[in-house]
Amino acid sequence: MTTPVNLLDLTPAAAELALRAFAEECGVGAYRGSQAARHLWQAPVAGFADMTVLPAEFRAQLAERFTLPRPELVAQQASTDGTRKFLFRMHDGQTVETVAIPDDDRMTFCISSQAGCPLQCAFCATGAMGFARNLTPSEIAGQVRELALLDPPLRATNIVFMGMGEPLMNWPAVDVVLTTLNQPQGLGIGARHITISTVGWLPGIQALARRPEQFRLAISVHAPSDALRATLMPVNTKFPLDDVIAAAGEFDRRVTFEYVMLGGINDQPEHARQLAALAKRCKAFVNLIPLHPGGTMGFVPTSRDDIGTFARMMRKAGVEVAVRKSRGLDIDAACGQLRVERLARQRPALANENREVEIP
Ligand code: SF4
Repeated sequence: MTTPVNLLDLTPAAAELALRAFAEECGVGAYRGSQAARHLWQAPVAGFADMTVLPAEFRAQLAERFTLPRPELVAQQASTDGTRKFLFRMHDGQTVETVAIPDDDRMTFCISSQAGCPLQCAFCATGAMGFARNLTPSEIAGQVRELALLDPPLRATNIVFMGMGEPLMNWPAVDVVLTTLNQPQGLGIGARHITISTVGWLPGIQALARRPEQFRLAISVHAPSDALRATLMPVNTKFPLDDVIAAAGEFDRRVTFEYVMLGGINDQPEHARQLAALAKRCKAFVNLIPLHPGGTMGFVPTSRDDIGTFARMMRKAGVEVAVRKSRGLDIDAACGQLRVERLARQRPALANENREVEIP
């Protein structure tokens, strides 16, 4: 007996080809395969049984040959600002987070690419929990699919790979996911609305640059000198800032710097000057990120006034800069926190914990 094929691990075009071939094999006509393919991403359904446009016998045959695995939603939180955070449990018990952030007519999903993270940035809750494994394509894109299956559905207009993990360390899976997110037969999200955020994993930046689509690149800089960055981000020893900035400069699309403001650590005038020089080297747009008070790991946030002064210095130096809004401040919306909080409880989630918590 052949092992069932996970359709969600394939690109949408490859899945449709496989489904069309199988439909012909079953004698129902290739078009039935295309009808089934529509229900993978464009009009997702929970399983083959729900593809009611198809004959019942063919649905049963599909369920024997293919799988549509789904993670289990084990917890969610809703912030008063509309941000929602979800914790999904994979088949082997690993849990990952997804955050949905509404903003005017945009709905940005922040998705995870690894369970845990091996890179151990000093200010990051995910790094502190260690690394479990890479997620598969279906587990990454499946986070977007799951939110579309909610009632009412949540549909992404924008995707950022800023959840748990370093996406470019998991390039083979992320490569497939980018296609799934972007292809018209997939989720149809424009490449310019999909941002891959990296600490500067050079082989991954080079692989991303080879893709023809206009995917966005965001570099988590967080410190403007090698000496300081090495103390906050151990990966800097492997890929020093200079090499990362050079790679960003060669990336022929818009690059953003992410810079989390750590009180008394990286928020001084000399840091603004150094950061502005780096940004100018690769024409980067700079996002200053107020530190989430709940995710401090011993760090304190820079005051709003000091962030404003820092931003003005950068602008004066000719750099485009924005101060990011803090979203979900009343929930655990800094990377890895919902999972950390749940692991700390040291017991599995109960069924009735799949609830929405409105925190005033
Ligand atoms: S900030 Fe990103 S790369 Fe660094 S430890 Fe956290 S998840 Fe990993």
